[in-house]
Order: sequence, then structure tokens, then C-alpha cells
Amino acid sequence: MAEVIKSACPLNCWDSCGLLVTVDNNKVVKVEGDPSHPITKGKICGRGRMLETRTNSPERILYPLKKVNGEFKQISWEQALDEISHKMMEIKEQHGSTAVLHSHDYSNNGILKNLDQRFFNMYGGVTELYGSLCWGAGIEAQKWDFGDAYGHEPEDVLESKNIIIWGRNVARTNMHFYEKLLEAKKNGAKIYVIDPMFNATAKIADEYISIKPGMDGLLAVGIIKEILRLGMEDRNFILHHSQGFEDLENLVDGISLEEISEMTEVPIEIIRSFANIYADKPTSTFMGLGLQRYKNGGNTIRLIDALVAVSGNIGISGGGANYANLQVGQSFDVANLTMSDRRSSHRQFSIMRQAEEVLAAVDPIIEMIIVTCGNPLTQVPDSTLVEKAFSSVSTLVVIDQFMTDTAALADYVLPTGTSFEEEDIYYSSMYHHYVNYGPKFVSAPGEAKSDLWIWTQLAQRLGFGDVFNSSREQLLNLSLQSLAEKGKTLVELKERGTLELPVKYVPWHDFKFKTASGKYEFTTMDKGEEGKLTLAVPEESKWNNPELAENYPYSLLTIHPLRSNHSQNYHLYSKAPQLKIEVSEDIAASKNLKTGDYVRVWNDRGEVKGQLSILPKAHPNTINIDEGIWKKFGGSVNALTSSRESDNGLGSTLYDCLVNIEKIN
Ligand code: SF4
Repeated sequence: MAEVIKSACPLNCWDSCGLLVTVDNNKVVKVEGDPSHPITKGKICGRGRMLETRTNSPERILYPLKKVNGEFKQISWEQALDEISHKMMEIKEQHGSTAVLHSHDYSNNGILKNLDQRFFNMYGGVTELYGSLCWGAGIEAQKWDFGDAYGHEPEDVLESKNIIIWGRNVARTNMHFYEKLLEAKKNGAKIYVIDPMFNATAKIADEYISIKPGMDGLLAVGIIKEILRLGMEDRNFILHHSQGFEDLENLVDGISLEEISEMTEVPIEIIRSFANIYADKPTSTFMGLGLQRYKNGGNTIRLIDALVAVSGNIGISGGGANYANLQVGQSFDVANLTMSDRRSSHRQFSIMRQAEEVLAAVDPIIEMIIVTCGNPLTQVPDSTLVEKAFSSVSTLVVIDQFMTDTAALADYVLPTGTSFEEEDIYYSSMYHHYVNYGPKFVSAPGEAKSDLWIWTQLAQRLGFGDVFNSSREQLLNLSLQSLAEKGKTLVELKERGTLELPVKYVPWHDFKFKTASGKYEFTTMDKGEEGKLTLAVPEESKWNNPELAENYPYSLLTIHPLRSNHSQNYHLYSKAPQLKIEVSEDIAASKNLKTGDYVRVWNDRGEVKGQLSILPKAHPNTINIDEGIWKKFGGSVNALTSSRESDNGLGSTLYDCLVNIEKIN
């Protein structure tokens, strides 16, 4: 008989939804929203619903696979684990444990996914990746300004008079916040959307401001300049709770409003009007995770933070520079799971430049790559080079549920379970502050196993099986240790399905910042000259590289797809997806292109081909190709993107990318 079970969406998404999953005869038959979840209240998106297809898909990998003479052959778990552990032992003896690279990402938010790090630390410490393809530059930027990246709790936006949605299409990526915006609008708040694309969120805005991609920081400088000219800055905050304001004043004096307007392609009257909007407090700012994907990305977020600070919108209800909410993840004892103190060696490669670093590695060279929770061949910039690097190592092991582009290149593919096939807890440090419980309620198909089982088996063969000698329950309790001290236990979480985490609803309300000075830092004290804000613009722009801009006149964005969580769902669509190339109306007009044309987009790094579609009201000279599409469907769009790092070294520059386009037959 069918049963409905409370569960949680595991996808790396802002919303971390509560689910109700209907199970019949050990089979997931329906995935719906859980109306009792305090934030997500029964509504979920198509990506969440597709977890049913994901779990039941006939394309699931059912057995361990080994590539022999270019073909995958089914092998036993015994053979797979013996051979991989034997190779790992040999590598450690001959080259040291850092000759293994652990390439990972965040396809799944389950806390026990962190156990991969426990395994690699106990093995001796491997080469790990630092930074983030997604939000890294912005997180680091807010750490420089505030000491940490904290956001306001979801209800607080209802206190805002003005809400600025800056480079974030919440209708697509953060649907429960979209609902809150509708509520705020009904209560009289004004909504402003700043974005190069006229997206679904812009449709509900009181005003939409179209901006040239990558120029958001400069727009913030313009608004600050006007606030200062009108004397509307918050002198009390600046005087008592910040440092480095003189540097900011000097910076804004170095450029005119006319220059800013010309460079950002935002009219002066609009820049001026935003000074009044920010001064009419409380004004909240919600930044997206695309603004920072430029060489100048960290500086961009810092300039928007500075605008929020100058206007006195920090630490007040209805205000805030909302980018992420790391308070959520900080509620858990992840260190207990990862045991980083047990490793004896350690080496780090940049996640953006992992291909170059693998190819250039010496002492030791990379002998083996193990991929978890990711699909680097599709998602890492400059994918042609990534394929070369991942093909160059003696052994590539991929743990996945499906034959992704990366898995297809592997020597061994180990099949793992979906979130409905293993127990875990789920949260997201992007939006709300509730943790959700997800029990196991169906068996994994074929011989697919949980990641924990795989690590335990490998650990036993490598001589440290004792540290994996714990049940899932014990490991979950370990990760909840400090919450349990505050009376929030696993027992309660299991009973209720979700628990509120102890976070500050309005961060920085006491104006005690986590920076070295304890103040908000317009200039970051401990970073020397680097700590000063600048007027930087994208690396691939006419200002920094006129010749490149001549050859490649169009800005390429690679935004989050509507129906897939990055690369995770494309193969599950009922109709095979095609690469869609969306262009602004002016490009279509000047190149005589129309919807449905087959076109090529290229630059010096590579090319992709696909079908053209016209983006109404997009900023001139802008192209978008949704990220994540697989090679077999025409991707990866990362054949075009650069592996360059952001200014602060911790983020990607995926949107800092100029291209050209032509019609082909
Ligand atoms: S993908 Fe995001 S919005 Fe969709 S169901 Fe999962 S958590 Fe909710």
C-alpha cells in the first residue's frame, strides 16, 4: 500500500524544501512539497519533482564499472574496491598521498557527504581543491567587509520599504523568496531589479534597470557618489562602526557620474534616483550569485556592500547586504566529520584552475583523481583543458548515479544512491535557517551503494576502517553535537522533519563585526593595498583588452538553467535537450539572425553550436547560454569560459567572457 513520507530536497539550491514523497512497493511514485514546512509550505519546483525520475531512471548505473580497452565492463564491488585501494596504497608508497586529487563539488547538500574528506584525511591527506566555481568571490568579499557572510532571515524582507534585487532571478532559483517578494509588494514595498536580463523577477518589479554585464560595482560607486553629494550618508555608522571611509571617498572622487553612466550603460537620472531609494530606509539588497563571476567579482560585491553600509542599511531590520547566510552551515560540527587534524600531508589546487594544475603538477605528479558530488568535465571552466587533464592521469575514479561526461571518461565508475536511498540531513546556507531530515525509504537499484558504504569498504582495505566504524545515526549525532547542547537533537529533528537553527535574524544589529578591527571595513585592514576598493571592470572588456573586445564584441552569461540543478537533470528530460543560444535583440538585428537559426558561438578557447533564441529586453551585446548542458546535448558551454580566478582568488570568472557569433548551416 502507498505511503507518504516526509523528506527533504537534497539539491544545492537556495530553498532547501521540505518534501512529501509517496512510496509504493519500494518505489518512489510521487514527489510533492510538504505543506507543514515553515518556509517552503508545500511548494516545490520542477527540479525537486524530478527527483522521482532521477530515482527511478533506467539510466541509473547499477553496477561498478571498469574501462577495459575503451569499453566499460561490469565488475564486482570486491574487484573494484580491491583494485582502487591497491592502487591508492601503491601511489602513497611511491609518490605520497598528495599524488591523489580529490575533485569534488556540491551536487548534494547532505551533511554526510562531507565524509569523503574524512576518508581522504585518514588516507594521509590528498591534493584538495580550494575556492568555488559559484559564490566563492562574494563570500570572501563579505568576509573582508563584515568578517563573515550573513543574511537576514526570510520574514525580515517584509520590514523593507525598498527591495533591491541585484543580479538575481529569484523566480527561477529561489521561488520561496519570490513568494515573499509578492507579499512585500502587496504590503506596499517597492521592488527594483538590476540585471542585464529582463527576467521573470523583473516582471514583478516597480522598476527594472538594465546594466552592462560585470559593471555592477561601478553602478554602486555612482550611487554612493550621489548619496555623498546630497549629504544623505549615515554619518553615525561611518563614524562609529566603520573604518577606511576616507579611501572610499577618494575612490568615488576619481570618477564622474557621466563616466559611470557611460561605462555601466545606466542613465544618470537612474543612478541619481537610487541615492534616494537607498537613503529611504530600510532598503534591503539581495545579491545574486552571478555578479561575482568576474575578475573584478570580489570588488563588485564589496562595492555593493559599501553602498549598503554608507546608506546606513547594515544591522537594521528590513535592510542588509544579503548574499549568503553562512550562519546556517556554521550551526553544524562538520569538523567532527572530516577529521582534518588526522592528515599528515596536504596540497591545494584552485578549483577553477584544476586542469592546469593537474597538467603542471610535479613532486608529486597527479596519479589518480577521485571525483565525488560533481561533474567537472561539464562544470569547470575551459572544459577542453579539463578533459585533457582528466585524461592524462593513470586512474580516474568517479562516484555517481549516472554516466555523466566525467563518468564517461573514468577508469572506474562506482554507482551510488539517491537521497531517498540513504538517511541524511539537509540545509542550505543561502536562504532560510531550517535543517530538514531525510530518511531512507527505498532501496538503491542494482548494486548501487551509499557513499558511506564505499568509503567504509575502501577504508577497511587501506587499514583505517575503525574510523568508519560508526552508524549513520552516530555520525549524524556527531555533526549535531553543538546543537544538541542547545536542546536541538536528532531525535527531535526526526520527529518533526525540520528544526529552526539558532541564527541571528538581523545580522550585525549590535555593530560588532568579525573583522580584525571589529568594525565594518571599507578598506580591509590586514590585506594591505589589496584591501582597498577599486574601480575595476571585467578583464575581458574594451577597457582592459581592446583587441579582444574588437574580435569578440559580445558578453556571454551562463546562467542557472530553469529545469536542471546545474548539469544534474538534462539527461532526465522527456525530450532530449538542445543547446539554446539566447541573444539580445540588437545582436539579432545586426547579424540578421532569427529564432531557430543554427549558430556558432566562439572565442579563442573553443566553440559551441546551437539554436538561436531572442531575449526580449536583454542588455545590448549580451548572449546567454544556460550552464550545465552535457557534451552529448551540445555542451559544455564551459568550452568558452576562462579558468582565470577572481580578484580575491576564491571565485570563478565564468561570466567574464567575450565571444562572437555567426549563423551556420
Ligand atoms: S531544487 Fe530548490 S526549489 Fe526546487 S524543490 Fe529542491 S530545494 Fe526546492
